[in-house]
Amino acid sequence: MSGATPSFDTDVLVIGGGNAALCAAIMAAEAGSRVTLLESAPRAWRGGNSGHTRNLRCMHDAPQDVLVEAYPEEEFWQDLLKVTGGITNEHLARMVIRASSTCRNWMRKHGVIFQPPLSGALHVARTNAFFMGGGTALVNAYFRSAEKLGVQIHYETPVDRLEIDEHGTFQAALTTNGKRFTAKSCVLAAGGFESNREWLREAWGQNERGEWPSDNFLIRGTAFNKGVLLKHMLDEHKADGIGDPTQAHMVAIDARAPLYDGGICTRIDCVSLGVVVNREAKRFYDEGEDFWPKRYAIWGRLVAMQPGQIAYSIIDSKAIGRFMPPVFPGVKANSLEELADKLELDRATFMQSLTEYNDNCHVGHFDHTALDDCHTEGITPAKTHWARPIDTAPFYGYALRPGVTFTYLGLKVDDTSAVRFNDRASRNLFVAGEMMAGNVLGKGYTAGVGMSIGTAFGRIAGRNAALAAQGKPAVAGAVKDEA
Ligand SMILES: Cc1cc2nc3c(=O)[nH]c(=O)nc-3n(C[C@H](O)[C@H](O)[C@H](O)COP(=O)(O)OP(=O)(O)OC[C@H]3O[C@@H](n4cnc5c(N)ncnc54)[C@H](O)[C@@H]3O)c2cc1C
Repeated sequence: MSGATPSFDTDVLVIGGGNAALCAAIMAAEAGSRVTLLESAPRAWRGGNSGHTRNLRCMHDAPQDVLVEAYPEEEFWQDLLKVTGGITNEHLARMVIRASSTCRNWMRKHGVIFQPPLSGALHVARTNAFFMGGGTALVNAYFRSAEKLGVQIHYETPVDRLEIDEHGTFQAALTTNGKRFTAKSCVLAAGGFESNREWLREAWGQNERGEWPSDNFLIRGTAFNKGVLLKHMLDEHKADGIGDPTQAHMVAIDARAPLYDGGICTRIDCVSLGVVVNREAKRFYDEGEDFWPKRYAIWGRLVAMQPGQIAYSIIDSKAIGRFMPPVFPGVKANSLEELADKLELDRATFMQSLTEYNDNCHVGHFDHTALDDCHTEGITPAKTHWARPIDTAPFYGYALRPGVTFTYLGLKVDDTSAVRFNDRASRNLFVAGEMMAGNVLGKGYTAGVGMSIGTAFGRIAGRNAALAAQGKPAVAGAVKDEA
């Protein structure tokens, strides 16, 4: 190496500064390794998408502190199987599910505090444990704990290249600011590529209308997940990859949200209480197909398929108070005609769509907490639950855009979390979090599973990186927690 390149050496190098990276760094430090963590963001923006989270999906067989009733392994697995349409790895998925039932004591030990959901959450008191103070508090607690354990943290240190030998053994990481970090082992936890607009454009391409759909996507989380390392691993080192680059967690969010970091409060949660029309003022999908927590993550993609990648969620005053209010107020009108004008939709088509819907609602017993019997008959698309005429002023409309949460293209792993080259596991290079979530999530999403995957694999990767640093082989399977 040239003497001009500042060099650093450690036992375990962790790249990334979100949940998966922090879980890995803490595990490795607890195992006695010297650990260095490289975060591309400045300190004020540390924590990646993990800072935006609110909860963790947890299996449990009986009520457990903040979790009510039971959410057994089989039910969690069936939920995952359904949303992914089978594009998942059952062995890895069940490992994550089981780990989610026992990891919370370890999380508490490192400063995470859990609380029951507040009202307005997605009916998840049974399935999801909420972090007090949200993901920002979780990330801050983990950084504090990591620092106490002696983890060396470098902010504003984006890694753009790795040196890996012909056996797939990690040697060193090189940063864009000209530093070189050598280590006995390494964990990659640098997120997906959702903030890389060029890569999104390349993945989504041009549609039949000549549009580049991804130009109209908004990014719900950090601006720092550009997928630089993911691309480098796939293209330069030919690491085994998994997943489709167009698959992502995509939510319909307020079109007025900022390009990055709008977070949770820009989500529009009233879709199932009303109807959604596209730019041509026509309905295009069953708004009442299933409970909103099971459907909210398909609506980003549905909007992405519409002309101009925009749609409009329309409700009347009966819906107010029944969903978490978004941060920006809806466009308000005293008549449907006025609403069409304010939203700049073709008034005649809008009135036709709304009249057709209103006239064909068969209202039984409305119950938003159950798959109720209020439905439409004889129209396409149908609305299969919670269908009530939109007839009570004032009326509200929210313009929706696709909001990308995180992408699913990643590196292929087995239950050791090792990066693989030509189907052979690296001895000392591991991966966790969004960079490998696609092994479990081929498509679709069920709320809170991102943190379940990142926590399970972050801990496995950290444990195995510490073992590799001691010259020991990786252990397969989740970290065993005391009951
Ligand atoms: C608004 C929002 C709400 C969400 N809510 C939930 C929820 O409630 N529950 C849930 O389970 N999931 C939720 N998710 C998804 C969840 O955030 C992710 O699944 C999870 O945080 C991924 O963790 P991670 O550590 O892999 O990635 P991140 O937390 O995004 O961390 C990646 C880190 O890598 C750093 N980085 C990127 N590139 C480099 C590089 N080249 N060099 C060095 N560092 C780099 C980034 O700065 C960042 O710190 C939400 C996401 C968003 C955006």
